[in-house]
Amino acid sequence: MLSTTIGNDAGVKIATIEHLMSAFAGSGLDNVIVEVDGPEVPVMDGSASPFVFLIDCAGLVEQAASRQAIRVRKTIEIWDEDKFVAIEPSQGFSASFEIDFESSAIGRSTGFFDLHNGGFKRDICRARTFGFEVEVEHMQKLGLALGGSLENAVVIGRQDQILNEEGLRYGDEFVRHKVLDAVGDLYLAGGPLLGRFTGSRSGHDLNNRLLRALFADEGAWELTTDMPQPTVLPSGGLDQHFDRFNSVQIAATA
Ligand SMILES: [Zn+2]
Repeated sequence: MLSTTIGNDAGVKIATIEHLMSAFAGSGLDNVIVEVDGPEVPVMDGSASPFVFLIDCAGLVEQAASRQAIRVRKTIEIWDEDKFVAIEPSQGFSASFEIDFESSAIGRSTGFFDLHNGGFKRDICRARTFGFEVEVEHMQKLGLALGGSLENAVVIGRQDQILNEEGLRYGDEFVRHKVLDAVGDLYLAGGPLLGRFTGSRSGHDLNNRLLRALFADEGAWELTTDMPQPTVLPSGGLDQHFDRFNSVQIAATA
């Protein structure tokens, strides 16, 4: 629910891989060995920016084989009450996301991001994870998030105010961080997705269920060496895009 954990048959588990995976996806890095000395990937500043910086410093080496992408051939949707995620066929990867929090510090926010041509580095990679002061205290009583601080998260206080002195890195940092998480979670597919991702109030759990549903249907995807192409928001704008999913769901449950 709170982060993405991978494990193998030998019982080795590594938690909180999503920001590092997101940096890999956003940097176009396919083949990499990660060595972790502990049960989870370091949180760094709560974003993918420190990882992207280090990848940029080290540089990438082009390999002899063609890069394989996963082309989405059918629309797959996963609903959980009022939350949903979907992936639709497209020439490249883009993400539309909607968040809607009771807290007025966050509120409702939507965004569309095409991550080609440096979009990830410019628009997404610096967005930090966020949480509520009350929840952080509760988690720390349970022995979780012990390293959680204003150094590695945006924290919303009891008076619905942002506690970080430096404020936000983007006006809509929250929705951008949800896209950062989704990009990382979806990179567990094993390659770049050629598909249009849409998420609404969703998180790691639904991202993972979306991938499982996609790969469970052999006709829903295929491997390709086509290069991802920049994509645009469907005509009609973002609100109409989310309304389309919401109206389908309302019709289905009526
Ligand atoms: Zn995150």
